[in-house]
Amino acid sequence: MQSTNPATGEQLATYEEDDAVDVEEKLALSMDAYADWRDRPIRERETLLANAGSVLRENKRRYAELMVREMGKPISQAIAEVEKSAWACDHYAEYASAYLSEEHYPSPPGTEVKTVHDPLGPVLAVMPWNYPFWQVIRFAAPYLTAGNVGLLKHASNVPGTALVLEEVFTEAGYPEGVFQTLMIGSSQVEDVLADDRVKAATLTGSGPAGRAVAETAGKHLKKTVLELGGSDPFIVLDDADLEAAVETGVQARTQNGGQSCIAAKRFLVHEAVYDEYVDRLVDAFEALVVGDPTDEATDVGPQADAALMADLQEQVQASVDAGATLLTGGEPLDRDGAFYPPTVLSDVPSGCPVDSEETFGPVAAVYEVADEQEAVTLANDSRFGLGASIWTEDRERGEQLARDIESGAVYVNELTKSDPRVPFGGINDSGYGRELSETGIKEFVNRKTVWIQ
Ligand code: NAP
Repeated sequence: MQSTNPATGEQLATYEEDDAVDVEEKLALSMDAYADWRDRPIRERETLLANAGSVLRENKRRYAELMVREMGKPISQAIAEVEKSAWACDHYAEYASAYLSEEHYPSPPGTEVKTVHDPLGPVLAVMPWNYPFWQVIRFAAPYLTAGNVGLLKHASNVPGTALVLEEVFTEAGYPEGVFQTLMIGSSQVEDVLADDRVKAATLTGSGPAGRAVAETAGKHLKKTVLELGGSDPFIVLDDADLEAAVETGVQARTQNGGQSCIAAKRFLVHEAVYDEYVDRLVDAFEALVVGDPTDEATDVGPQADAALMADLQEQVQASVDAGATLLTGGEPLDRDGAFYPPTVLSDVPSGCPVDSEETFGPVAAVYEVADEQEAVTLANDSRFGLGASIWTEDRERGEQLARDIESGAVYVNELTKSDPRVPFGGINDSGYGRELSETGIKEFVNRKTVWIQ
């Protein structure tokens, strides 16, 4: 496996892939570790997780710099990602035992009926490169603390980060084998998931990857959580605070180089404020600093991979060919590295790529809508259903509209975001299941009913 710096094209390092013997050893170790780990008191597991949070904080600059080198996110955002990962550790270190406490049910006199939450065993996590720390900690913090053990198959373009994540848990004092990184490509996932020792899988990634994992898991009757792509609407109503809606809209579309599942991708703007909003959005996009991701002042770094940038460019070009109007950006920058400028398209025809597909880069599609109803119709005219953001000064109107949006989450006057305290996940082609919060930690436990007469 090789890592390449997308800002320069330089090859950074080559890593040995695990062969079948290595994978077998890791699976066996995982089972040994589980036999002990599952019986440790949850308080002990919480303490180790708090340690992992401390390790993340102590090493945040080193970890952030590794992410910047491997996938190009701006350094300030990489540091924020490590800090957020530490926050998820703090959260579950504080709340896991409360989340997993026994639940009692009405029962006949003289009996006690309750559910207890047992771990399942080794959980396979297939993870993407876009938030290479956060996505992994998001699964590991709750699931390990519930008593499961983790097997990480990270994206092939972030092998250094994949190995460093294992170090985080080792340095925090976790027993050997509780968290292991498998250095395997996607073609080996099926065999690992089919193995009897692996009890469940969580995947964050694209639709095709999610379908492949769900198919294997279905064949072997294993539980899965799938966090897939999105084409989230960002609705600006006639009574919105435009300044806030521009500022947050820019962040929502361009942070992490626009490579976020919950990025605002389709801007649905009320006709009464459309011209002003779009002018301000374009100005703000043009004011962003695109360039060296190691520079603290950079807003948008390179795209993570030259081939992915070429796909993005094809989506934009095909949309323009179908009739969309390019308001800014639209061509890779004429310099070394995979740099794509913040781009805005209007007059977007229904069904063109930026309308119907996920755009994984800093490309905003803007639409003029006559009223709320049209906004809802367009928002729901998507095979995805991850998040949505609605901007209005009238909170009741926002809440009412939120009810009509078909997605896993709706944020009113706020960026669609993940937060360890709040359930996160999608519907339709955005996947199923929830991560984070109490809901998330209960995805990979056996909610065992115990009836005592
Ligand atoms: P990806 O190509 O689907 O890869 C994600 C992971 O799946 C990688 O580890 C990849 O391994 C593996 N994979 C790919 N094809 C597979 C297959 N057929 N069987 C088993 N594993 C397979 O996605 P990506 O480009 O890394 O990430 C971008 C996508 O992730 C976007 O669609 C984005 O919206 C989505 N995402 C969703 C969320 C969410 O929470 N909903 C969060 C972040 C990202 P290799 O690298 O070895 O191919």
